[in-house]
Amino acid sequence: PDDVDQPDDPKYQAVLKQYFGYSKFRPFQWKIINSVLNEKRDNCVIMATGYGKSLTFQFPSVFTKRVSIIISPLISLMQDQVHNLEASNIEACFLGSAQGSMGEVKEAMFRGQYRIVYVTPEYASTALDQFKTLDKKVGLDLIAIDEAHCVSQWGHDFRSSYRQLGILKQNFPQVPILAVTATATVEVRSDICRSLNLKNPNMTCTGFDRPNLYLSVCSKTGDIANDLKSEMKKKGNKFYFDGSTIIYCPTKKTTEDVIGALQGLRVSCLPYHASLSLSARKKAHTSFLNDQIEVVVATVAFGMGIDKPDVRKVIHYGAPKDIESYYQEIGRAGRDGSPSECTAIFSKSDFNTCRHFINEIKSEKFRMHKLKMLAKLEQYLTTASCRRRILLSYFESGNLEEIGGSENCCDCCRLNFTRLKHGLTNVSAVEDKPVDYTREAGDLFKAIQYTGSRFGLGVPCQVLMGSGVKKVQQFQSGKIFGAGKYKSLKFWNALGRCLLYEGYLREKSLQSGYGCTVEMTPKAEFWYNKFTQGKAADCPLLLTPSG
Ligand code: ADP
Repeated sequence: PDDVDQPDDPKYQAVLKQYFGYSKFRPFQWKIINSVLNEKRDNCVIMATGYGKSLTFQFPSVFTKRVSIIISPLISLMQDQVHNLEASNIEACFLGSAQGSMGEVKEAMFRGQYRIVYVTPEYASTALDQFKTLDKKVGLDLIAIDEAHCVSQWGHDFRSSYRQLGILKQNFPQVPILAVTATATVEVRSDICRSLNLKNPNMTCTGFDRPNLYLSVCSKTGDIANDLKSEMKKKGNKFYFDGSTIIYCPTKKTTEDVIGALQGLRVSCLPYHASLSLSARKKAHTSFLNDQIEVVVATVAFGMGIDKPDVRKVIHYGAPKDIESYYQEIGRAGRDGSPSECTAIFSKSDFNTCRHFINEIKSEKFRMHKLKMLAKLEQYLTTASCRRRILLSYFESGNLEEIGGSENCCDCCRLNFTRLKHGLTNVSAVEDKPVDYTREAGDLFKAIQYTGSRFGLGVPCQVLMGSGVKKVQQFQSGKIFGAGKYKSLKFWNALGRCLLYEGYLREKSLQSGYGCTVEMTPKAEFWYNKFTQGKAADCPLLLTPSG
C-alpha cells in the first residue's frame, strides 16, 4: 500500500538513493514533493516530528539542479543542516546578516553552486533583489518556510519577523511556497495560509499522535532529588537516567535547583537558559548531542532545532506553559521511533504564575485563547482518563475513540489496564462526560452579581456557603447567602475556575498589582438572562468535570 506514495518514474528514487541514502519515500513525502516540483503549487504541511519534513524541501533542487531558499528561525540549526548536507555531497550555504563579508558565498550562489540556500526570516524580507537575481540566473524551485507556526499569534512561538514573509508570494507569484510545521491547530493553519498569501495550497496533515511516547504525570513531593529519583534507575547506590534526558523548568532559578539536586546524585548534567553565555549554551548543546552528558536542564530557550534522535526522556519539572508548548517540547523525545517517556512533575500552585501573566493580556480574544490552552493543560495534568486523547483532542477534532487503552499509552491507561487485568472496574468508565451545571452556575452568577463584581472568586463562594468570615458579613441579609450549602466551598471554587476557562467569567487585575476581581462576561450575561427567565432548559450549561 506504501507504493501508492511512490513516484512511477525510477529517476526520482535514483536521486533519493544517491544523495539521501533512502530507497523509498516515506508516506506523504512524495505527494508533497510532486506537488511542488511538478504542479508548482503552494503547500502547507503539518507533519508530526519524525516523519521526515526536511526531505520535502531538500529534495526538489537536488533533483532539478536548480536552487531552493529555506527560511528557518535558528541560525545554529541552519548551520548544522548545511554541514549535514555537505557531508552528503549536496552543496548548501547559509546567508545571514550577522555574518561579515558574504561576497564569495553570494558569487558562488549566483553561479549556481548551491542547491540549497538557508536564510533567517529577517534576512529574507530584506533580500528580495538578491532572490530575484538568483531566480533569473539559476532558477528558484521553491521557497520553504520551516517552523511556519511562528507566523501566528495563536500559536505558542510567535515571531514578528515571520509576519513579513507574506511579501515573498507577492514578489514571486510563480515560485511555490512550502510552509512546514510540526504543530498547528485549525486557527494556526489558516493563519499560516493567510499571512503567507498561499494560493490554493495543497494541505497535508499527518495526524499528531506519536505512538512511541509514553505519557505520565506525577505530583511534586517538595524534595527535588526525591521527585527525580522516581524517574531514574538505580545500580548499587548510583542513580542514573536510562539514556539522554531533557529536563524543562519554568524558570532559570528552578534549572539551578534541579542542577544542584542532580549533582548531589552525581548525574552528569549542564544547564541551558537565556542568561548563560553563548559559549556555555553551545557547550551544553554539543555535550548533549555527543553524549558527553546525560541530562540538559533547561528553560524553553532550549528549543527548536534540537535534532538529537535518541532523547529517551523529556521531564517537565513544574507545569509546562500550555498544551501547545507541551506538545512541542515532548516532541523532542524519541524522534528515532524507539520507546521514550514524557513525564510532567507539577504542583497545583505552579499554575498561579501562568494565570497571573495571562490575566495581564489586554486583548480579550487573545486572553481567552491563552486561557483555553492553559485549561487544556490543566485537564491533561489532572485527568483520570487517557492523557493522549486529551492532548490530541486539542489539535484534531476527528475520531479519537481508537486512541488509548494500551499499557504503553499513558499512566492512566496503564493503571486501567492493570485494574482490568485484576478484574477491577475501569477508572475511565467515569470519564470526562459533560455534566449539567445549570443550577450551580446560576447560583454562582447570582452570588457574583449580588456582591457587585468587586471581589475575587473567594467572596461569592463564601457567600454561597453562608460563611462566618468577616468579609462576607455585609451580605448576610441576601437570599443567596448560604444558598449554596448543597455543595462544598472547594466545589464552588473549582466551578468558578472552570467558568473562567470557558469564557463565562473574567478576572481583572487590581490597580495595586496584586489580586483580581471576577466579573461575568457578555456570554455569561446572555445565558444568565435566559436562566432567570426560566429558559435555561433550552441551553443547559455543560462542563466536563476534569476541565
Ligand atoms: P522531522 O523534521 O519531520 O522531525 P526529519 O526530517 O528530521 O523529520 O527526519 C526524521 C528522520 O527520518 C531522520 O532521521 C531522517 O534521516 C529519516 N528519514 C527521512 N526521510 C526518510 C526516508 N524516505 N526513508 C528513511 N528515513 C527517512
